[in-house]
Amino acid sequence: MNNKAMYQLTYGLFVLSARDEEQDNGCIINTAGQVTTTPNRITIAVNKANYTHDLIQRIGLFNISILDETAPFSVFQRFGFQSGRDTDKLKDFPVSRADNGIFYLKDHASAFLSGKVVQQFDLGSHTLFLADVTDGDVLSNENSVTYTYYQNNIKPKPEKTEKTGYRCKICGYIYEGDPLPEDFICPICKHGAADFEKI
Ligand code: FE
Repeated sequence: MNNKAMYQLTYGLFVLSARDEEQDNGCIINTAGQVTTTPNRITIAVNKANYTHDLIQRIGLFNISILDETAPFSVFQRFGFQSGRDTDKLKDFPVSRADNGIFYLKDHASAFLSGKVVQQFDLGSHTLFLADVTDGDVLSNENSVTYTYYQNNIKPKPEKTEKTGYRCKICGYIYEGDPLPEDFICPICKHGAADFEKI
C-alpha cells in the first residue's frame, strides 16, 4: 500500500459551528460532503477532541460555512488552532445567524448549510454525523477553498529553521526529536503523526 495515494483525495475546508444555551463554538473540518439528494443529506466527520463535537452530540444541530479562497490564515488559526474550551473564538469576529440560531461566517465563505443530525456513527477517533440539510444560502462568488489551495496559497511558507525533528504539515508546529512517537498528537491543531514530515 502506497500511503501517498491517500493524499490524492480532494477535500474542501469548512468552519463547522454549533451552540448550546451557554456558548457558541466552531472548528475547522475538511470532511463535509453531500451523500444523497432526495432527501438532501450531508455527512461530517468530527474529531472527538473538538468541543464542537460535544455540542453537536448534545443539540443535534450545526452549520457549515464553506470557506472560499479569500479566507486568510488567521481564520484557520482562530477556528483550527485553539480550543473553544478556553477561548471565545467569536470575539471581534463578524458572523451572521441562521434560523437554527447557530452562527455562520459573514466573510470568506462561499455558502453556508444548516444540518439536523439524523444518525451518528462512532468511528473511534471521530464521530460521523449524517444530517438533513434544513437551510442554506450562497454568500460569495469566490471559489470554495480546497485543501490543496490552502496548502499552496494560504498557509505561510515554512521558515528556514536550525531545528531538527518533524514539522506538522497542517499548522507548521515543530516537534524537536527523533523518532516522532507513533501516537503523537499535534498540540496546536490536534492532527496525528501521519500529518508530520521530517525536517
Ligand atoms: Fe499541527
